Amino acid sequence: MKRIVVVGAGQAGASLVARLRAKGFDGGITLLGAEPVPPYQRPPLSKGYLLGDMALERLFLRPEIFYADQAVDLRMGASVTGLDRAAQTVALGDEHLPYDALALTTGSVPRHLPASIGGNLAGVYTVRGLADVNAMAAEFRASARVVIVGGGYIGLEAAAVAAKRGLDVTVLEMAPRILARVAAPETAAAVNALHAGHGVRILTDTALARIDGTDRVSGVTLADGTHLPADFVIVGIGIAPATDLAEAAGLTLDNGIATDAQGRTSDPSIWAAGDCASFPWQGGRLRLESVQNAIDQAECVADNMLGAGRDYVPMPWFWSDQYDMKLQIAGLNAGYDRVIVRAAPARSHWYFKGDTLLSVDALGDPRAYMVGKRMIEQGISPDPAALSDPATDLKALLSA
Ligand code: NAP
Repeated sequence: MKRIVVVGAGQAGASLVARLRAKGFDGGITLLGAEPVPPYQRPPLSKGYLLGDMALERLFLRPEIFYADQAVDLRMGASVTGLDRAAQTVALGDEHLPYDALALTTGSVPRHLPASIGGNLAGVYTVRGLADVNAMAAEFRASARVVIVGGGYIGLEAAAVAAKRGLDVTVLEMAPRILARVAAPETAAAVNALHAGHGVRILTDTALARIDGTDRVSGVTLADGTHLPADFVIVGIGIAPATDLAEAAGLTLDNGIATDAQGRTSDPSIWAAGDCASFPWQGGRLRLESVQNAIDQAECVADNMLGAGRDYVPMPWFWSDQYDMKLQIAGLNAGYDRVIVRAAPARSHWYFKGDTLLSVDALGDPRAYMVGKRMIEQGISPDPAALSDPATDLKALLSA
């Protein structure tokens, strides 16, 4: 194999090309990214970078020189317009780049509110890329009023930053509680209380009717007719896998670009990894939206492009910083039927299906996170009664 082209220069694309070189691939590598900057970390965008505590260069995953040193042809500002699977080329307008193997690491795109309800008014922002955050930075001035639509991690992290900066913050969540897609009621309640303690209003069971304003946002109207004034609006209502190129090229889609266990798409010379890809998992398919998945899956795909033939087994973990609380999550809670609460020294919530430990949410308790993660990796399911007893030494449960 002479030439590998990677479309998408986010966390997955950057990890994939670095791994190819680390594993000794000495053919040509081209990494194509639509944004005008080298691959960067996304998590700080809704935290330190938005607060103004982090310089742009610190966001970069590697200094730009790394790509030249590794003989990776990094093309920034390069928007791919199509794939020709028969000719094995990637189109960048009139230019056609040949590939022997292609990886799609196209990530995801934020969901937008429709223009018909004011979704494209000036002063309405999503938080996905650097340009989004740069555009909204000037709005973060003390006493400004922000309405945040969506009580997921994006909305809640943005709410924490806004509250820290002295803004008046209201979060609208359609569901009966925040974090409904990702966390148990116990975790949602603790996060809710944290925000309430910082003066953030979280309105659950609350649907937005429209964003008001002529050219620019002036407020929002709720489904019950209530009007809330706002100087700007942040929309964090989830993301969708970026599948346009794959779809136009006729690749199989199934909640993202469908791959086999090794990351190969329905075309054997095209691979996919990261937010855009769904892979076989426990009899169904799984698509994970996380940094850890982007790195691990991309590295697995790089290995398999070079012939390793190994299946991808996710070991998920996530974190979210809100105020001074670090929420750390290990494992996947899908299918849990009960949650065991451990209340000391800080709170941790342990998700079980029957007697099997699936995942843990540690709220400012790094020890609980570390122990829980090791238990899940090693297939250990502790006794729930011992777990909930604050007198139990967690580490002792590892060897029980
Ligand atoms: P998300 O986790 O899907 O949360 C979006 C929330 O908005 C959901 O609770 C959703 O409720 C709600 N919602 C949807 N439409 C709404 C509407 N019209 N009005 C009010 N609420 C509405 O997505 P996200 O917070 O936008 O984050 C995007 C991705 O980035 C996710 O994968 C997230 O995990 C990731 N991320 C991770 C971190 C981290 O790990 N620290 C930080 C930031 C972002 P329903 O579920 O009922 O639709």
